Parts: sequence; structure tokens; C-alpha cells
Amino acid sequence: MLFNPSSYFKQHPRMGMVGLALLMAAIFAADTFTRLEVAAAGFYVVVILAGLGFLHRRGVIALAAICILLTIISLFLTPKDHGLHDLGVINALISIAAIAITAYLALLRAAAEDAAFEMRTQLVRIARIRSLGGLTASIAHEINQPLAAIAASGSACQRWLEHDPPNLDRALRALQRMVGDVNRASDVVARIRSQARNAEPRRVPVQLTEVIEEVVVLAQGELDRHEILLTEHIQDDLPEVLADRVQVGQVLVNLMLNAVEAMREMPAAGRRLVLRVNATADEMVQLTLSDTGPGLSQQAREKLFDTFWTTKPDGTGLGLTISRDIIESHGGHLWAEPSRPGGAVFCFTLPVVRQERMP
Ligand code: ADP
Repeated sequence: MLFNPSSYFKQHPRMGMVGLALLMAAIFAADTFTRLEVAAAGFYVVVILAGLGFLHRRGVIALAAICILLTIISLFLTPKDHGLHDLGVINALISIAAIAITAYLALLRAAAEDAAFEMRTQLVRIARIRSLGGLTASIAHEINQPLAAIAASGSACQRWLEHDPPNLDRALRALQRMVGDVNRASDVVARIRSQARNAEPRRVPVQLTEVIEEVVVLAQGELDRHEILLTEHIQDDLPEVLADRVQVGQVLVNLMLNAVEAMREMPAAGRRLVLRVNATADEMVQLTLSDTGPGLSQQAREKLFDTFWTTKPDGTGLGLTISRDIIESHGGHLWAEPSRPGGAVFCFTLPVVRQERMP
């Protein structure tokens, strides 16, 4: 893989600082010990550009100030050649202007990147709300079921109490069923709230199976409504992954809703969704979701992850783009398997928790 200095120094900022200090020292030496007409200070722009890769805004400003200061100091320290002093001053001024302009443009770029990041965060939130919207029927069903059961147990309880003599034992059992159903309904509400909240991503050791369980509870009604049979093959003793459970839940909701939407076109009898989870040899946990929809055409495979590419009249074309972003920001991969007869296969991996990966 190609060495990327920017991401290396982002992970090792101390090495980055040492590298910058050495580079500045070399430029300072060259600027001081070469003749005044050699504008070595111009190379400080490289320092600014390198610093931009891993320093915050204030760090870049401080770096530019230090570079300007060093340029002025070496102007005074450079041995004076008769007649060249004016040229030296002009060269120093040009270098200072180049450093200041580079820092200014670099900061403008950083501000634009921040705005783009903010926009993406908003998009993730919209997509999350949208995917929950897609589950409305399912969620309504999940809450309606315990409510209907509570009403039935309530009437039964009333009947046993009105009985002559009252059957307290049966009434008590009906009450216990009611408490169980109330808890079921409030669990569903709690899950919706945790999926919809706009919290900062928080990566903690997570059992992927727990995330799957939460998503399946929310999606079960939708699967039932479309007569889709979900089968799960989950390896025993799966290691935990380091993940934000809401974000990973959102990815799974996206993939499941895409599969449901794809299978709606197919005859009801063959609609099957198979979810497999297993640990891989390279310390990842892999989730594979196969459906029995129409599968992916050549064009779909090329464009699937392009922003705004959709084949649905009401689609946004953001689901897979954002899902891939989320998984990659966790250090994993999301891809579609080469099409095989009988549907589409989407997979993602997440890194297993290792002690040194803990925040
Ligand atoms: P959207 O769902 O809003 O269209 P996505 O980025 O989630 O956005 O999906 C992009 C496109 O990928 C879909 O419009 C669809 O054509 C295709 N696609 C995604 N998942 C599947 C699938 N399981 N089977 C077939 N096509 C799919």
C-alpha cells in the first residue's frame, strides 16, 4: 500500500512534530549560511503544508509565526555581503509573504473541509431518520402488538376479578403478562430513541450480535409485512468489535431495507434474507447479508457506492455511500460481492477489539 505521510503523522503527531522541527532547522541553517541572494526561507511553505496534515488551526498559525520569526532571525545572522543587504531584505519579505499567504490559504481550505464534514454529519442524521422512517410500519407493529396484548390481559384480569368468587390467581397471572408486555413496548421505544439520537459517535467494545438483535426487533414487522424469511447463521464465541452501535445499527438497517425493497419485486414465495456473521483470519468480524432479489446489474455494481446514485423513484442514493463511510471510519470495509444468480450479497467487516486499539 502507498505510504500516506498525512495519515501516518495524524496517528503519530509526535513524530510529525519532530519531522517538522528537523525540516525547519535544515531550512534555517540553509537560509542562514547561504548568501543573502539565496531565498532558502521560501521552503518554509513546505513546513506549513506538511503541518496542515495533522495540526489544528491554531497550530498552523503558530507554525507560520515561527517560520516568519526564523526568516527574520536568519536575515540578521547571515554574513553580510557588501551591496547584497537590500536583496536579502527583499528575499526575506517575499518569503514572509509566501509563508503568510500559504498559511491563510491552508486555513481557508481547512475551514471548507470543516464545513463539508458538518454537512456530511447532517446527511448521516437525515439518512438515519429516513431509514427509521422506512421502518415506521414495522415499529408501529412492534408497539401495537404488546398494546393489543395488554388490552386483552386487562379484560381477562377484570373478568377474573368480577368472577364469584374472584379468581385471584388467574387475575395475578394476567397482570404479570401485562407488565411483561409493557416492558416489551418500552424496550422498542428505547431502541428507536437510541437509533434516532444525534449523539457524537462513541466507539466502545460491542458484540455485533446485540446490534443485530436490536435492528431485527425494529425490522421484524417490515419483514413479516413483505413475507420475508430471515435466517441467521452466527458463529459462536464471536469476539467483540470496537464500534459505535448506533452507526453500525444504521448500516445494517440500510442494508436490510435495501434488500426488502429489492425483494418486493419478487414472488412472495422465494423472499429470503440470510445473515451470516463470522470472525475472519485477519482479526475482523464479517457480516454478510444475502437476499433473493433481482441481484446487481453490471451498471449497479459500478455505481452502487456513488453519492446520489439510485434506481428508486423516492431514493436518495445516499444509503450505501454513508454506510461505506461509516464502516471505513471504523477501520472496516463494506462491499457488494460479485453478483451470483439469485440476489445480491453485501458484506462488511469491523476490526476486533484489541487492547492497543482501545481509546
Ligand atoms: P437508495 O436506497 O436511496 O436508492 P442506496 O445508496 O442505499 O440508495 O442504494 C443505491 C442503489 O443500489 C439502489 O437504488 C438500488 O438500485 C441498488 N441496491 C442497493 N441494495 C440493493 C440490493 N440488495 N439489491 C439490488 N439492488 C440494490
